[in-house]
Amino acid sequence: MGVVTLRRGREKPARRGHPWIFSGAIQCADAAPGDIVDVLDADGHFVARGYYNPSSQIRVRLLTWDEGERVNADFWRRRLRASLARRDALLLPPETDAFRLVHAESDGLPGLVVDRYGPWLVLQALTLGIERHKALIVELLAELTRPAGIYERSDEEVRRREGLELATGPLWGEPPPSRLVVREAGLRFLVDVIAGHKTGFYLDQRENRVLARRVASGRRVLNCFSYTGGFTVAAVAGGAGETVSVESSEAAVALAAENVRLNGFAGREAADTFIVGDVFDVLRRLRDRGEQFDMVVLDPPKFAHHAGQVPSAARGYKDINWLAFRLLAPGGLLMTFSCSGAISPDLFWKIVFAAALDAGVRVRVVQVLHQAPDHTISLHFPEGFYLKGLLCRVEGKFCP
Ligand code: SAH
Repeated sequence: MGVVTLRRGREKPARRGHPWIFSGAIQCADAAPGDIVDVLDADGHFVARGYYNPSSQIRVRLLTWDEGERVNADFWRRRLRASLARRDALLLPPETDAFRLVHAESDGLPGLVVDRYGPWLVLQALTLGIERHKALIVELLAELTRPAGIYERSDEEVRRREGLELATGPLWGEPPPSRLVVREAGLRFLVDVIAGHKTGFYLDQRENRVLARRVASGRRVLNCFSYTGGFTVAAVAGGAGETVSVESSEAAVALAAENVRLNGFAGREAADTFIVGDVFDVLRRLRDRGEQFDMVVLDPPKFAHHAGQVPSAARGYKDINWLAFRLLAPGGLLMTFSCSGAISPDLFWKIVFAAALDAGVRVRVVQVLHQAPDHTISLHFPEGFYLKGLLCRVEGKFCP
């Protein structure tokens, strides 16, 4: 086991339970890449224990603050069990068999993401420390959850910052089919866990899709950044009139149309339109044509990957929100999101406010939105709270 000694005074975040030790906080390290290390303060007192990677700006990710707790097979089993137990207490919507089992740092398992899709598990090992323990973790997951198979989707770019290559493929049991069907709040979705985004589906939006279903009745809905049609299917199930879905990925759009059919909403060919295109362009085109909607969903990808990208991301968010307000009829609903961790909830409110002012509309916040609860949030790790949103209602014009 290695040792990492911190500079004087730099142990404070770790002492408060934050799981990251940055390179700048370290005085000296005596450890090999991937080792389990004891982190000591400048006086040599134990602070916490974690795994070490000198190639990453986050040099140590902390696993335990209990000096007596060894990081062995029992440790990983306990942590995985606790993570699974946390899901049992969550009260996910009934008839739901796709959800996040392990949300990395927020579940006390830094660098590890595990999503369940029916009988299959999809795993992301995002750090060297988890990569080193991957075989054991897979074995334990198989023992604890008895899945049909475990598939790896460690193809996130963050792996490169850890000095790791991207990795995908079957890890245990049966390989999943290229399209499997999951259930979410009674609706069915085709998910491509092999080639889809992330681990296949945006599970973090589950509760917000349930809300969209509740409010969509009779509305003409515009779903922007629609991926495989999660919000579209929800809106149709909720009794939406027409829907228009806009998405740049052709494969995702094809799956979206199939997902509408899969739920038995046949005969809607004329009611649901799927546009392969760039939302920024399509919104302008719709505005120029004088189109009006009663509900708009904006669920863009992460515009800001780090603090340096916040100003340009803010312009992007403002632009699409402004266009959405312009397209909404009085009484119309806007469901708008940002999944950029670097954009704070406070800044997001300001962006949406600025967009409403420029669009000349008076707006009420009907509900404040966030990631689904299986994407757990630890008070000690605010970075884990990344998805925020607002359900807004346009109440009329505001042109002082
Ligand atoms: N709301 C979806 C998830 C959206 S993820 C759901 O509930 O499943 C964001 C999506 O935006 C991705 O599918 C990505 O392919 C798409 N995308 C990214 N940039 C885009 C752009 N400029 N125009 C249209 N779609 C875009």
